[in-house]
Amino acid sequence: MDFIKIKDFVKTNNLPAYRLNQIRQGIFVDGFAAWRDIKTLPKNLQEALNKNFKILSFDLVKLQSSKLDKVYKALLKLYDGPKIETVLMKPGKFWSVCVSSQAGCPLGCAFCATGKLGFKRNLTAEEISDQVLFWHQFLQKEFKGERVSNIVFMGMGEPLLNYVEVKKAVEILSNKDYLNIGKRHISISTSGIADKFENLAKELPQVNLALSLHNADNKERSTLMPINRKYNLDIIKQELENYLKLNAREVFLEYTVIDGENNSPAHIRKLGKWINSFKDNYLLHVNLIACNPATSKAKTPPIAAVYAFAEALEKMNIKATVRKSLGSDISAACGQLAAKN
Ligand code: SAH
Ligand code: SF4
Repeated sequence: MDFIKIKDFVKTNNLPAYRLNQIRQGIFVDGFAAWRDIKTLPKNLQEALNKNFKILSFDLVKLQSSKLDKVYKALLKLYDGPKIETVLMKPGKFWSVCVSSQAGCPLGCAFCATGKLGFKRNLTAEEISDQVLFWHQFLQKEFKGERVSNIVFMGMGEPLLNYVEVKKAVEILSNKDYLNIGKRHISISTSGIADKFENLAKELPQVNLALSLHNADNKERSTLMPINRKYNLDIIKQELENYLKLNAREVFLEYTVIDGENNSPAHIRKLGKWINSFKDNYLLHVNLIACNPATSKAKTPPIAAVYAFAEALEKMNIKATVRKSLGSDISAACGQLAAKN
């Protein structure tokens, strides 16, 4: 929903200002999914709003819930046809939403189901922020009063290839009058579109940055992630050092452990060396995640191997955490979003 348009509507129709607050309360607090449910508004205004504005910029096609974890996945159809997916999860005490920033993804990483789909189009800021509004509505229906606390740009697509709309979406989502989700609770994950790191440091310094690394060898990384041919590890390092200089804030290095592909002792040593070559290496934190089955190239390692990887990094004085994957039974885990019916 584009709230600016609603504001204009209230103004051009000379409605009293408190109507705007009633709308805000109905949509962003109570989480109503239909204008007629906002009972504080007179009937004729409900009808006028209904005629002019859709609350969400897509239709729900399918909602799935995991039997293993507190995870929900929604398949959504945009009004011009493409489908996207978004995930709601509760890994601990707080609800997190994983949003898509593009329909599909042009980057074709070998281990990712979204990459296999190809690219349809960029999402608008409204389509991105509406994914969170959708889950807010869901929570008010199923878990009244609970709220979305965190947002991760780890759904479909490469957020930094859609930087302008992603930035707008962050501003909308963190706006006090909207869903009011603090920027420190928002994370952007990128495959390494390094020429946008400086923009992030200057324009969204409170937003968390996660870099999907997966391999510290240029040749091997290019095979896994073709985008490495454009933004290789040297360019990434240069831009990341600049980022850390401008914004001394912890950056997460995502490392999907693919069995037999990037988890040998030599791979671990090379990763450790790369990290420790940074001036601000203490600001880099590795998140290890066992590769989820998504494509034929995605081989899941035994979990013990992932813990051994973390231990080996710690011996090199590198902070490392093993991240648990949620929602694999409904293909809602990292790399599994393919918007299949
Ligand atoms: N395009 C962005 C954000 C979306 S992907 C990026 O690549 O960072 C979100 C995360 O899921 C990334 O860290 C990505 O590398 C990871 N991922 C992709 N496929 C995966 C798989 N099969 N198993 C585990 N993680 C995967
Ligand atoms: Fe795109 Fe990220 Fe998947 Fe790579 S891992 S194909 S960048 S969504």
